[in-house]
Amino acid sequence: MPHIDDMKNMDLGSGVTIIITCADPRANPATYLGLNPGECPTIRNAGGRVTPEVFTSLELISAVMPVGMLVLIHHTDCGGLYVTDDDVRSALSERNPEHKDGIKDKTWHSYKNIGMDQSIKDDVAKLKAWKFLPKGAAVAGYVIDIKTGQLRNVVEPNF
Ligand SMILES: [Zn+2]
Repeated sequence: MPHIDDMKNMDLGSGVTIIITCADPRANPATYLGLNPGECPTIRNAGGRVTPEVFTSLELISAVMPVGMLVLIHHTDCGGLYVTDDDVRSALSERNPEHKDGIKDKTWHSYKNIGMDQSIKDDVAKLKAWKFLPKGAAVAGYVIDIKTGQLRNVVEPNF
């Protein structure tokens, strides 16, 4: 496995591909894309949504290696499709009523209300609007079907 100093000097072509995807263990891109260790930096959170924390990670990664492409991948049967933010708020408030006020305005970026394709379109739009998007970096959005392993393109890469 290359050291980070080696990666800075590696010929990465137009740069690394960064994957933004869900934390769901059924949807591990290293498995369904057959990635080699160290091949694609991967940012994962519940739902694979583009949150402020995703930009924090992208900023750090892009400061240490050239970035050629951002690939957003959501997946079928995602938990984010089955709950609304109000559902999450209710569950947490019921469990810990003493912290109810602290989460009254919080969002978990669930996407039951907008659906799979719209969540991908919205998140790709956020990535394309990132103020530090490296010049020439493409952005694309896909859905992985966890039953068939097939990727479906929702937003074409903008090379
Ligand atoms: Zn998921």
